[in-house]
Amino acid sequence: MTLMDGKSLRDELLQKYKEKIEKESLAIRLDIITVGEDAASEVYVRNKVKYATEVGIEVITHKLANSVGEKDIIELIDELNSNDKVTGIILQSPIPEGLDFKKCAGRIAHHKDIDGFTLYNIGNLYLGRESLVPCTVKGIMILLEHYKIDLKGKNVTVVGRSEIVGKPLTLALINRDATVTVCHSKTRDLVEHTKNADIVISAVGKKGVITEDMVADGFVGIDVGINRIEGKLYGDFDFEGVASKASFITPVPGGVGPMTVAMIIDNLIIAKTMKR
Ligand code: NAP
Repeated sequence: MTLMDGKSLRDELLQKYKEKIEKESLAIRLDIITVGEDAASEVYVRNKVKYATEVGIEVITHKLANSVGEKDIIELIDELNSNDKVTGIILQSPIPEGLDFKKCAGRIAHHKDIDGFTLYNIGNLYLGRESLVPCTVKGIMILLEHYKIDLKGKNVTVVGRSEIVGKPLTLALINRDATVTVCHSKTRDLVEHTKNADIVISAVGKKGVITEDMVADGFVGIDVGINRIEGKLYGDFDFEGVASKASFITPVPGGVGPMTVAMIIDNLIIAKTMKR
């Protein structure tokens, strides 16, 4: 069994990005907007700032109060959209209840949409065209490629159909010739779909939702789930049992998570250099 080491790959990629940014003197600026307070997001934002800064990207964080309205967020986004110094914009999720995240994030200019959430970028992914792809999805695809896991004709079961992971991941996998089954909370017999899969990708957010009896011998397991329990991180896989059957598997932490951060930098470089 091979552990798919997202941390090492992240470090390798960040080194390459750093060299490219230096060599080509790319002046890249990332603006991150946070609204209200959320402990988990604070950790994610801190990581984004850390890695982006390390590779030579300027990061500006805009901390908006819990009490702001959609109008204030949209005004700030409009201002950043029209500022030529700004390469990329991230509206950190979640934003306080009562505010429409999709509406606000959808306002980001598509060429500055580092998370790849705007209709234009999702549309391009749907059409199989080059675009800014959601970072977790791209991170998973690069991880699979790095470990030379061929997707052509493979049965891939994606568990989870969210707009940030499951759905765009399904499109990316189809674009790479995989045969994809998508499961969710209403799926009648989850095991029937996971057991027949060459590759299982779980993005549910429930510890132990995938167990040893649900997977085939020699399968490839990608665990997107992040479950924080009593200060410790777990994935969706009941790791020991599931790993005993896997040919390749991602750990949590240290698998998909680090790749997501690396892909933010990747998307920023694309945003800076793409022709419009
Ligand atoms: P989400 O929006 O809550 O979606 C969860 C999905 O799982 C939904 O489609 C839901 O089905 C499905 N689901 C729930 N219970 C299920 C069950 N028992 N069996 C099968 N499917 C079930 O979550 P998300 O934003 O996609 O994130 C999923 C997990 O990935 C979370 O733990 C999140 O923290 C993690 N995550 C990690 C990264 C990373 O970089 N590693 C990035 C993003 C997210 P319904 O649609 O029917 O409700």
